[in-house]
Amino acid sequence: MLEVIDLKKSYGEIAALRGVNLRVAKGQLLGFLGPNGAGKTTTMRSVFGLVAPDAGEVLWNGRPISDRDRLRFGYMPEERGLYPRMRNSEQVAYFGMLHGLTQAGAHAAAKRWLGEFGLADRSRDRLEELSHGNQQRLQLAAALVHSPELLVLDEPFAGLDPVGVGAMGEILASQAAAGTAVIFSSHQLDLVEDLCDDVVIINEGAVALAGAVRRLRADAPHRHVQVEVHNSTSDWVKQLEDVRIVGRDGDRVTLDVGHGADLGSILAAAQAAGDVVEFSYEPPSLNEVFLDAVSQ
Ligand code: ATP
Repeated sequence: MLEVIDLKKSYGEIAALRGVNLRVAKGQLLGFLGPNGAGKTTTMRSVFGLVAPDAGEVLWNGRPISDRDRLRFGYMPEERGLYPRMRNSEQVAYFGMLHGLTQAGAHAAAKRWLGEFGLADRSRDRLEELSHGNQQRLQLAAALVHSPELLVLDEPFAGLDPVGVGAMGEILASQAAAGTAVIFSSHQLDLVEDLCDDVVIINEGAVALAGAVRRLRADAPHRHVQVEVHNSTSDWVKQLEDVRIVGRDGDRVTLDVGHGADLGSILAAAQAAGDVVEFSYEPPSLNEVFLDAVSQ
């Protein structure tokens, strides 16, 4: 298990991390979210010793992380760190050897991963000859080549087309299912909502919200009710208390209501006004939960 405990880091006047806490267990796929500049990259870099924190701890299986532990980690950094002129299979194999694989083992693993990502026929090409999406795949192959126990990915979905996003999502999910601890940052919250059971949302260097996506959505202070009333004789919404209209499309309104809202009275008001053809009640999306969390 990876544990980041009360991590703090300042760059001069800028407090990049003001006390970040998170845990990723083996087999868990954790979404690490936050607005631009929140501190996600700084946190991830500290796992690899690329940032020296001012305070706090980063532990793997309960102990400070050693160089030996890091051989068992895979990292896909935001500024993709591959060599443009190296041949693709050699590049992936090279990363395997850096992580302790033998030359033969590294080449075999590189071949396997290039095949897995549909890049077998590009293995003798150079990175600079690949499209952006294929460069992303190669970067992921380089992070996976040594079968890491912990996989840390900084915005792995950035710039991918929908097919690439789907493929990347499947790879991350299958890595977690095979027992790897996986943490990735992303600004694509609908995707995170589909992929992850758990998220950590940071804002201005500190955790704003963390937990199971399902619970965070259910516990959100606001939620939306959609009501469609045909043949309405009045603007029935106006008489309701403690609701806010957030959308209106003909006879259909979307209301923002508080957590403890009396849905019965909303339905009764709608029924009194006309024919109710839709009454649905949904917790907010992860996107709305995120916006609430980072705007406080
Ligand atoms: P994004 O979503 O835009 O990638 P992020 O959440 O990854 O953002 P970080 O890159 O960790 O955010 O940056 C956190 C803060 O620390 C920002 O204010 C950034 O400008 C600052 N920062 C990060 N690295 C350095 C550095 N080497 N020197 C000075 N300031 C830095």
